[in-house]
Amino acid sequence: MISIKSKTDLAKMREAGKIAGGALKLAGESIRAGMSTLELDKIVHDYIVRCGAKPSFKGYGGFPGSACISINEEVIHGIPRANKIIREGDIVSVDVGAFYNGFHGDTCATFPCGEISDEAKALLEVTKASLYEGIAQAQVGARLGDVSHAIEEYCASRGYGIVRNYCGHGVGRELHESPEVPNWGRAGHGPRLTAGMTIAIEPMINVKGDDVRVLKDGWTVLTVSGSLSAHFEHTIAITPDGPVIMTQP
Ligand code: MG
Repeated sequence: MISIKSKTDLAKMREAGKIAGGALKLAGESIRAGMSTLELDKIVHDYIVRCGAKPSFKGYGGFPGSACISINEEVIHGIPRANKIIREGDIVSVDVGAFYNGFHGDTCATFPCGEISDEAKALLEVTKASLYEGIAQAQVGARLGDVSHAIEEYCASRGYGIVRNYCGHGVGRELHESPEVPNWGRAGHGPRLTAGMTIAIEPMINVKGDDVRVLKDGWTVLTVSGSLSAHFEHTIAITPDGPVIMTQP
């Protein structure tokens, strides 16, 4: 069942989203060559705790970090590690969740470390733009497939691979709620979007191919092709005034 949030719920959820967005912004500003992903995770963790919130991901399904930090060919769910060092030219996805006021905010962005290749720059631009293509379709009365299709169309027409083993999701009192929000689909199909629905839209896009595999650590998902992968995500609310991004800092 898809849970519908009241205006009061949405106001509380916006606060959680603001904290998640703030943590993500700080992470992006903090990335430097030579730093470990564990150091970056600590920055995210400390910010969320300072705001009086709880990191949604810590302990979720046994995940050890506060943020999922995935570099280059890693798609999602990278475990922060002291011996994992960010290098100049890397692209670094930081996925952050904050639980506050009884609600979660879930957001992600892929950041460049210093100068990155033209291929990497284009990937980041396309993935980010596809998120906003999807958000634009999240209107009262539309279908979930309209959101999915907009993302797929934008990325596939530019030759990029769309990860199909993972997708976005409803979000609210639980980190993962109904419905699933795939990054591919048919326009005009799927659940009807109504006011008060809150969903995390999160395209995961590869330079080459759709296929992914999970590393031996049981968490880290990476591209089979070895190509770069990017991930952008916002938690949004569907309202009569259009989609509202909840995870803006
Ligand atoms: Mg998510």
